[in-house]
Amino acid sequence: MVAPKVTCSRATPIFVILGKIDDALALSSNTFAILVLNGHRAYMLICVRLISIGGSMADTVFILGAGASFEAGAPLMSTFLDKAEDLRRTGEVNDCAPEFDKVFSLIDTLQAVYAKSELDLNNIEALFGILEMASTVNRLYGIPEDQIGSYRDALIMVIVKTLERSINYHFSGGDFSKPQPTDSYRKFVELIQFLSKNFHEDSSIITFNYDTGVDHALHYAGLNVQYCTNANPGDGIRLLKLHGSTNWGACSKCHSIITYDLPTFFSKHDSKVRDDGTYDKHLEVSTYLSEIYHCEEPLNPVPVIVPPTWNKNSYRGDLSNVWSAAARELSEARNIYVFGYSLPESDPFFRYLFALGTLGSSRIRRFWVFDPDSNVRLRYEGLIGSGIRSRFQFFDRGFLSSVSSSGAMDYLTWLLNQGR
Ligand SMILES: [Zn+2]
Repeated sequence: MVAPKVTCSRATPIFVILGKIDDALALSSNTFAILVLNGHRAYMLICVRLISIGGSMADTVFILGAGASFEAGAPLMSTFLDKAEDLRRTGEVNDCAPEFDKVFSLIDTLQAVYAKSELDLNNIEALFGILEMASTVNRLYGIPEDQIGSYRDALIMVIVKTLERSINYHFSGGDFSKPQPTDSYRKFVELIQFLSKNFHEDSSIITFNYDTGVDHALHYAGLNVQYCTNANPGDGIRLLKLHGSTNWGACSKCHSIITYDLPTFFSKHDSKVRDDGTYDKHLEVSTYLSEIYHCEEPLNPVPVIVPPTWNKNSYRGDLSNVWSAAARELSEARNIYVFGYSLPESDPFFRYLFALGTLGSSRIRRFWVFDPDSNVRLRYEGLIGSGIRSRFQFFDRGFLSSVSSSGAMDYLTWLLNQGR
């Protein structure tokens, strides 16, 4: 057997192997073993979490939370179900009416069962967490075992369609073939380009959002995106979607996560104009997931997204590639800028990831958090270690004040210029 090719990056551990590599065996996506023969002795090296990541790590890591996509039109999780209900009532999701009705009838059922618990069924991610856990343990009060999976799938479709139909894209100059990015994400990508051009700083993005708002803005600017769902991503800006994405599907045979990249999508769907002359102002890649084949089968039409409270499911292997890449980026970052991520108590995962990624880091020059809610500052102060406390700054500003010329991005640009 041929030894695996390992691409070294700055963070990759180096092993000195005294002997002949005789065999290499993949144990899981993050683990492999190398059998070394040295004379008559054989050694087995188990290499854990040694992910081969091509290219170098970015200088600057942006972390985006729900507040970033909120300015693009996506509802916050706390009001998500209200928005979904509005879309259902106004007939804007009639094509998915069975899924929406199924979810709202489930909420009615669960409200009776969980009346005395502290579970907030009005919070879509709490509901998502309950269903994810229910499909793992195969038990949900009042729902037959063999139907639990269909409720989970219905909820995912409600989340995906509500997001896709809440974000409106614009067109200009009478060209209805290519939607323009939303204002906030367009400005965000301009900032990334500004940092690259003027300060030679590469950027990567870690996001908790399921929608494709930032993906589209990067694509529109001609930038190549790497989602890092596999262990050997190519070159491009790393866009690490920790909770999945509306344009990610699962192979119905091998269950790998397969992404429907926007350049491929737009090469197949190059017009947003309908036959009657009207145009579609939404970007709905999820509708077309089954156009992509893997293992000679179309992808499962239910997108791959997971709730923050999620513990384990069948996507764990591929998503752990994304998380490993995120930890690597954090460990190598000199600047970390956080937008619209309020560090909710219900999402302990990021706290662990951040602690692992920045453990003992002396590289961080700036850890700046932007959020309109000043209470968020206290949560971050509790998160960061003493090593980077002096580098922490909090700005009570939103992601971008819509089309205002003095948005957060301009402000950040100004700050960066002042500091140089
Ligand atoms: Zn497959």
